[in-house]
Amino acid sequence: MAKIIDGKVISAAVKEKIAAEVRGLKEKGIVPGLAVIIVGEDPASKVYVSNKKKACEQLGMYSVEYALPENTQIDELLKLIDNLNKDSKINGILCQLPLPRHLDEDAVINAILPEKDVDAFHPVNVGKIMNGDYDFLPCTPAGIMEMLEYEGIDVTGKNCVVIGRSNIVGKPMAMLLLHKNGTVTITHSKTKDLAAFCRNADILVAAVGRAKFVTEDMVKEGAVVIDVGINRMADGKLCGDVDFDAAEKKASYITPVPGGVGPMTIATLMKNTLTAAKKQNKIV
Ligand code: NDP
Repeated sequence: MAKIIDGKVISAAVKEKIAAEVRGLKEKGIVPGLAVIIVGEDPASKVYVSNKKKACEQLGMYSVEYALPENTQIDELLKLIDNLNKDSKINGILCQLPLPRHLDEDAVINAILPEKDVDAFHPVNVGKIMNGDYDFLPCTPAGIMEMLEYEGIDVTGKNCVVIGRSNIVGKPMAMLLLHKNGTVTITHSKTKDLAAFCRNADILVAAVGRAKFVTEDMVKEGAVVIDVGINRMADGKLCGDVDFDAAEKKASYITPVPGGVGPMTIATLMKNTLTAAKKQNKIV
């Protein structure tokens, strides 16, 4: 039976450290501030935004939410970002993705100042991550690396297989595993015999967006299984990309959904906002 990697416990430990640093900054008159923009009515996005706001409040950070209607035009959105770029109370800006189809996501990502880009999606930050010389790491992959470190799982020399190649999860995940000396394979919807790659994985990261996509036969005995997927089932319950009950029997470590990667993503966002506040106030 696998050890369950508890994202709630690990994120609480990360957040405790952040809260202590926030208290220290407050003594210097600095309150880290995060602006969260959401466009439209996507229910999942609303939940994520509300969780991000709650985390800010819990850690003593300032947060402001801009809930814009579905029919918002790109000019209005870029104007808002421009104002937030210039606002000294705001250290981090994020625009919840996906955006409604008529809005150009790249234009929005490019408009956020790299030093306030706490999601690490701006091409400048993406380039820095490639070079291994970065200010911010993308929240989900960095949260996963924190989990591996917390559990004492060494990546060096391990066969790491990432399922999914999105800019948000799959690609940066692969890069961070590579930085830690993993031998990394990225798989996707065009991969031939994906199961064979998975069966060879010492560390398997599933970021597909399909419930129970990873079945027992795809998991190597003793593998570390990281489940990024968040899928809403017909009964309203959340389910990961991994068939948890089956994979748990073979894995050495596994993350649950919910309560695994999700809380780590938010903790990393808080960490990035703190880093942004420190950098903008020339503290680091
Ligand atoms: P995307 O839809 O952007 O990417 C999904 C990836 O999965 C694509 O690269 C796609 O391949 C690949 N894929 C789809 N079907 C298959 C298949 N049959 N075989 C192999 N690969 C396949 O999703 P994201 O990366 O943004 O998110 C993935 C999941 O993680 C979602 O469930 C999302 O909700 C969740 N998520 C969770 C977070 C958390 O904090 N826990 C944060 C972010 C996301 P191709 O490129 O070829 O189309």
